[in-house]
Amino acid sequence: LSSRAARVLDALDIAGDREIPGVYDGEWHGAGDVLESVCPATGEVLARVRSASPEELHAALGRAREAYAFFRSVPAPRRGEILRQIREALAAKRDELGALVSLEMGKIRTEGVGEVQEFIDIADYAVGLSRMMNGRVVASERPGHSILEVPNPLGVVAVLSAFNFPVAVYGWNLALSLAAGNATLWKPSATTPLCSIAVTKIVSSVLERNSIPGAVAALVTGGKDVGESIVESQDVDMVSFTGSEHVGRIVGRTVQSRFGKVLLELGGNNASIIMPDADLALAVPAVFFGAVGTAGQRCTSTRRLYLHRTVAAAFLSRLQSLYAAVRPGDPLAPATLLGPLHTRAAVGVYSAAVERLRKSGAEILAGGAVCRDLAGPLGGGNYVLPTIAVPRGVDVADPIWREETFAPVLCVGVFDELEEAIGWNNGVPQGLSSSLWTRDLRNVGKWIGPAGSDAGIVNVNVGTSGAEIGAAFGGNKSTGWGRESGGDAWKQYVRWSACTINFSDEAPLAQGVQFSS
Ligand code: NAD
Repeated sequence: LSSRAARVLDALDIAGDREIPGVYDGEWHGAGDVLESVCPATGEVLARVRSASPEELHAALGRAREAYAFFRSVPAPRRGEILRQIREALAAKRDELGALVSLEMGKIRTEGVGEVQEFIDIADYAVGLSRMMNGRVVASERPGHSILEVPNPLGVVAVLSAFNFPVAVYGWNLALSLAAGNATLWKPSATTPLCSIAVTKIVSSVLERNSIPGAVAALVTGGKDVGESIVESQDVDMVSFTGSEHVGRIVGRTVQSRFGKVLLELGGNNASIIMPDADLALAVPAVFFGAVGTAGQRCTSTRRLYLHRTVAAAFLSRLQSLYAAVRPGDPLAPATLLGPLHTRAAVGVYSAAVERLRKSGAEILAGGAVCRDLAGPLGGGNYVLPTIAVPRGVDVADPIWREETFAPVLCVGVFDELEEAIGWNNGVPQGLSSSLWTRDLRNVGKWIGPAGSDAGIVNVNVGTSGAEIGAAFGGNKSTGWGRESGGDAWKQYVRWSACTINFSDEAPLAQGVQFSS
């Protein structure tokens, strides 16, 4: 192991030189297939992780069920106190964990640390929530009756997460699920097992200190097979799935077919629209961050850019200057803005997308190539150049515009009327994030209103990516309609009951129905 990688792993108590157990359900073990954790920046194998065997998964689900039976009776504010301690434990390791995210996922350091910060923020939020998960008292039409809407813990919540947010997505789910009194079973991406092990070590140390069963926050690493078994299991009350539309469609159908609860957070194909009155000094860097940040591997990355004809040339020339200046680098080095793609396969996806654009006659204004000239260890990394392409016109029926390419490829179209651009924004299957740049209040009204953007995130003078935790996060249409994080998202992590209580001496029926002879 390189000394750099060894330092990052050491700081989190992970031994990188031997097989590591990748299952936690109160104890650490692992008897399934071996997963390799590979550094995307160098190609170095960081560790080998023993994933969950079918028997281990079965046992972990059983332990999670037992843990739930215990945990549901712990008062919610007490659960909040445990979350507060988890928050403190995460904060104490924020920089180390952020570095591991960079090392294993490939995003740059500030974004890796930002991801851990997001977990800390949602833990703070959930501490407060633990005293505010209120039901309601509803006025009854019958004398001497009360109706209560009561939230109770749901059961076992499985979190299946994607590679690109190997810490934060679990954080959003764990914090709400734990506050709600559930046991959570995490199956992370098969390519980011170390992040999940490091997080679970931190969380489990707090649970153990508080004599809470470890399986309240169980971990089962593994690939597709483990994911499928979880999704099919009647022992899982809710599946919170974050990943591609392709897999989400299968997961959604399977969970629905057994009448389980499912929360889907799937692909995005996000557009920014630039109006003639946009402040380009703000809009250009925001589009640059949206399209190039995380090397285009955020669900909210900007993939489509619609420019008003009057500003198109000026905008593109400023954007091209930023693209020309960005250099691929080591994600752990403070000055780097562009890290690698996560896998070799993603480089192939990028190349195929660029090739398809070229063949269709698109003009390539920046990038368009895999980096092959990096010296030293980075020569083994999955680096590509961020690309700006101007296809021949906008046709949202064309796969070029319709499909999410999970790489830094930005497609540009030119419009004359805002309505036309909103039509393009809405004309794709996905509906995650969208962004309008204007100073004109009338445009804002259109954009956020009934005939405006149909996405779950509708921003004004704010780019498509980089959401805070306070609002519910999620997308519409093929993005899956799920909501996580803030807002009312917690309401999905509980089971709701309507309880009508009669404290009178009569037993009248609703709607005045008579049923006595
Ligand atoms: P993916 O769909 O390949 O994998 C997601 C998870 O599903 C992984 O844990 C994987 O092991 C598991 N899995 C794979 N096949 C499965 C199956 N048949 N049954 C059950 N589980 C299975 O996604 P990815 O490549 O890791 O992530 C990238 C995708 O995630 C992109 O499309 C991105 O937009 C999306 N994403 C969405 C959000 C959001 O909040 N909307 C956030 C992050 C990422």
